[in-house]
Amino acid sequence: MTLDRINFLKDEINKSNYKYYVEENPYLSDFEYDQLFAELKQLEEQFPLLKTPDSPTQRVGSVSEKFFPHTHKYRLYSLDNTYNDEELYKWYDRVEKECGKDIDLVCELKIDGLAIALTYEKGIFVRGVTRGDGITGEDITTNLKTVKAIPLKLFEPVDVEVRGEIYMPKSSFEKLNEENLAKGEKVFANPRNAASGSIRQLDSTITAKRDLSIFVYSSVFENIPNAPSTHYDGMMYLKKLGFKVNPNVRHCKNMEEAIQYIKEWDTKRFDLDYATDGVVIKVNSIACQQDLGFTSRAPKWATAFKFPPEEITTKLLDIELNIGKSGAVTPVAILEPVLLAGSTVARASLHNFDEIKRLDVRIGDTVLIKKAAEIIPKVIKVMETEEHKSLQPYVAPTKCPACDASLVTREGEVNLYCENQNCSQQIMAKIEFWVSKDAMDIDNIGPAVIQQLYEGNFISNPVDLYKLTMQDFMQLEGVKEKSAYNMFNAIQESKERPLKRLLTALGVRHIGKETAELITSEFTSLDAIKNAERDMLAKIDGVGDKMADSVYEFFHNEENLKMLDELKALGINPTAEVTTKSDKLGGKTFVLTGTLQNMTRDAASELIKQNGGKTSSSVSKKTDYVLAGENAGSKLDKAQNLGVIILTEDEFLEMIKEY
Ligand code: NAD
Repeated sequence: MTLDRINFLKDEINKSNYKYYVEENPYLSDFEYDQLFAELKQLEEQFPLLKTPDSPTQRVGSVSEKFFPHTHKYRLYSLDNTYNDEELYKWYDRVEKECGKDIDLVCELKIDGLAIALTYEKGIFVRGVTRGDGITGEDITTNLKTVKAIPLKLFEPVDVEVRGEIYMPKSSFEKLNEENLAKGEKVFANPRNAASGSIRQLDSTITAKRDLSIFVYSSVFENIPNAPSTHYDGMMYLKKLGFKVNPNVRHCKNMEEAIQYIKEWDTKRFDLDYATDGVVIKVNSIACQQDLGFTSRAPKWATAFKFPPEEITTKLLDIELNIGKSGAVTPVAILEPVLLAGSTVARASLHNFDEIKRLDVRIGDTVLIKKAAEIIPKVIKVMETEEHKSLQPYVAPTKCPACDASLVTREGEVNLYCENQNCSQQIMAKIEFWVSKDAMDIDNIGPAVIQQLYEGNFISNPVDLYKLTMQDFMQLEGVKEKSAYNMFNAIQESKERPLKRLLTALGVRHIGKETAELITSEFTSLDAIKNAERDMLAKIDGVGDKMADSVYEFFHNEENLKMLDELKALGINPTAEVTTKSDKLGGKTFVLTGTLQNMTRDAASELIKQNGGKTSSSVSKKTDYVLAGENAGSKLDKAQNLGVIILTEDEFLEMIKEY
């Protein structure tokens, strides 16, 4: 039994290694691969006699035959990894046992790219080789010479071999995929594959066109008398020699500080323009590193903490069609539920029908889904399985699934639209949007209640909400007096929402909550917006011609004007005057970042304005204060660099306190 399982795991891991390293087309997510790997390692520890030298646990990566092989002078290793703190402490215990108490560490971001070794002789770049299987790699010197961040000559004439990670910035990866998509060429699943595919091109002129960079993270010096005695000093020396070292390297006194670093970067990493899949923790003292040594695959003096998976595979059970408030029909993947980044995922975005065609998604496929900083996961790849070929290709619909109207495309847009204004799904989507948080923020009225109200002929548009009585609610299934009152009351309360919310709720094309705020800060009533000329709207900073046209047309449409009159008659006619309480923050500009504990960011912005201050979305020299909550991102770093005053939430509240 155990032997069968071991053999199965070995086969599966070897197969995925080939797909991942050689074909660059993995069929498992990294998390699933790591789980198989950890299981094999654990079984081999439990049954040492079943551990064979050819086991994938004893080896590093793989080499392709695409380039000339080069045997590394110094072996390159992989890293052991873990997904939990407990294992980190176990690793630290082993380090302390060998090297003594309180061993200091260095934490670095684990860059998700391709490992390479660069050789310099007397300060001149002579060779660059991929890690390969750690013993032999591929000689890609010509391609590496096209990467501008790799110095061809160092500031000192030293003999050194430097290891680093070649990566492609996330923004360049997105751009490359868009361009490739337009040309009908290969689209990469993630920045790592894009970096690896670009640096391992046989034609180096193609590599030269790709935006690649490098972070170096270790070195072996040959003939320098005072070689650095700690890893941290080594990194600083590499920087001095002209190498690009990641700025987020941190010297930590113990494991607690290392865990603090991991916590910080768990969310902050989403603000970076390069992909990271974890944190590498290394013993700082080189002497201690030498005492600890290596296993056949990885150093014992370093380990990687991997962030919770953002990608996982699952089965696509169906493709559901959603009709939005604008009539856009969007396909949604219905999935076999899987646990991903702390929550169960059963639906994922497929964007539009072009995307389905590009990915060749078929119902029944195994798909890779990703959940990064964004809340809604998306399908990023169809896994190459035998089953895929036998499944029916997906055909985009031609009729609206709700009202059977023919679907149309609009010029310059990829979406399909249902243009039937009476389409039930579209009407319900408009009402759902009206009650949503960013719009009129009506609590207690969710999609199920809206559906009942609509299907029971109580409402046929958002305005009807304001005509509902307590008795109407009492007629809904399972609704008692108390909840009827809560719903009724929530609708009445929403009449007081500020103008920007109402403008958002109207669902004018191209106008989201930010633009609504910009418009209502200039035009402070519905009448003022109605009377505004197109060019007056277009002149507002942040509102272009397209948005101005859209607002102008909305406010000059008979039907819409009738609706606005009806709203007014029902008592919904807000103005945008900000009730100024004080001038304590007179003219000062604030930028908000991170999660605040006592209020939302919107509420904090409101307080700033009420006290005479302004808010801005980005930090610059003109920023007076940055209000930083928990897990603050790159804005905080920028503020520190520019010397902008950083306030905690308490300090901010103190500033505006009324005595
Ligand atoms: P790894 O990527 O997990 O870790 C080792 C590598 O980390 C090093 O070789 C180095 O290139 C890199 N690295 C990045 N930043 C670093 C830093 N600051 N300091 C030191 N090293 C740094 O290990 P690996 O051996 O390259 O690959 C194994 C991993 O690859 C697996 O854990 C899995 O996630 C993935 N994989 C996936 C599949 C699949 O089918 N999905 C198959 C094979 C491997």
